[in-house]
Amino acid sequence: MTTRTDTECSPSPTSIDPSHRPPAVERLLTHPRAVPLQNRHGRRSLIQALRLVLDQWRGDPRPSPTPDHFLDRAEAVLEAAATPRLRPVFNLTGTVLHTNLGRALLPEEAMTAVIQAATRPGNLEFDLATGKRGDRDTLINGLIRELTGAEAATVVNNNAAAVLLALNTLALRKEVIISRGELVEIGGAFRIPEVMSRAGCKLVEVGATNRTHARDFQQALTERTRLILKAHTSNYAIEGFTHTVPEPELAALAHAHALPFMVDLGSGTLTDLSRHGLPREPTVQDTLAHGADVVTFSGDKLLGGPQAGLIVGRADLIDRIKKNPLKRALRVDKMTLAALEAVLRLYRDPDRLGERLTTLRLLSRPVERIRTQAERLLPALQAALGDGMTVTSRPCRSQIGSGALPVDRLPSQALVIQPTQRGRGAGTTLKGLEQRLRDLPVPVIGRLHDGALWLDLRCLEDEADFVSQLPRLREIAS
Ligand SMILES: *Cc1c(COP(=O)(O)O)cnc(C)c1O
Repeated sequence: MTTRTDTECSPSPTSIDPSHRPPAVERLLTHPRAVPLQNRHGRRSLIQALRLVLDQWRGDPRPSPTPDHFLDRAEAVLEAAATPRLRPVFNLTGTVLHTNLGRALLPEEAMTAVIQAATRPGNLEFDLATGKRGDRDTLINGLIRELTGAEAATVVNNNAAAVLLALNTLALRKEVIISRGELVEIGGAFRIPEVMSRAGCKLVEVGATNRTHARDFQQALTERTRLILKAHTSNYAIEGFTHTVPEPELAALAHAHALPFMVDLGSGTLTDLSRHGLPREPTVQDTLAHGADVVTFSGDKLLGGPQAGLIVGRADLIDRIKKNPLKRALRVDKMTLAALEAVLRLYRDPDRLGERLTTLRLLSRPVERIRTQAERLLPALQAALGDGMTVTSRPCRSQIGSGALPVDRLPSQALVIQPTQRGRGAGTTLKGLEQRLRDLPVPVIGRLHDGALWLDLRCLEDEADFVSQLPRLREIAS
């Protein structure tokens, strides 16, 4: 029921002067201010919010505030409820592919494709040539083949799913050999040994953490071996006295024993990053050319597309992978495929890729431009923060993130904020500042380092939006 009697809304009648009672919900609903609130949020939500704020007043012996007071509070409740939980933020952490902040940002072309796919019927699994049922993987198969040289491809929810599905298909209840130095954990719950056991495979680790030789693999081969696996050690580097077996050698060994060779590339890029002034990262093409039969990689890391896991390689193996019943549980939806297709198409024009692919554009932003931007923004930030904080522009190093090139850093420039009064309490002041920046309509996420808050400007493309909300910092209490 949406109505309540006056007595239900009021505190116990014995203790409170009736003239002090808060108004009834019905009365507040007839208030002129209730009309726009009801239009925006709906009658049911408005009534709920009014009851909530009236309940909070219930039992208070003081005279009731004006109806305006309750409508203000109800409006605040309604606005808070209407704010999406998933919101845009400014990623000034210096990590471009930040997993907690959503990794790759889709380029315009992909967004247009997603909207089409989401709002109109499409030939997702419908062959327009024959009028028969189609296969959603065919939508991207041609592009993947052209770009990577792979015979076939399939797409699943993310790279963790790709690895799980490939292992489960190719080596269920059998042995998979991998170097001890590659038993990687990719943040959160993805660890090669655990994925391997969940995939139903037996892990056979060979070599030592720092050195693995071809003979280690050779000696581990049994009649139960079904796969040789190489995992890209995405987020760490083993340095010093090290040795790994080169991919062509592992491929040759596998093939000599009629076994497939699989590589989990993790980030897997399709373009030579050194063409864009970035450190080189193995490409999917290189890995296939080295003899890998199956390669898995993420859609939303260096590829710069939607969250997805790509499995590419030999047609007969991809075919088996696609027939695994788990494939159905791990498949991607039409919006993902639409975004992926649009992103892959950008790779057909390598000359303009650096400009059009958001991830690559951010990664390859020239440091001089970031520095000029920092100088341009410094006065506005300083003015918004007042005398209590001192802002300087300083060189810093961004990282690619998501496990790509963990050791390499990209020269960048940051606005660095420090409490003007150093010493005791400075840490608390900085935490307070971080919170104030998070309380902005578009929260600003930086990085605390060395007694200062660093705002790495590499990923700041919408500068006008950033500047326009800065004056609000004064209103947000520290
Ligand atoms: C990132 C990564 C994964 C997991 O990929 P998701 O797309 O996050 O599921 C698996 N293996 C390696 C080597 C990775 O770098």
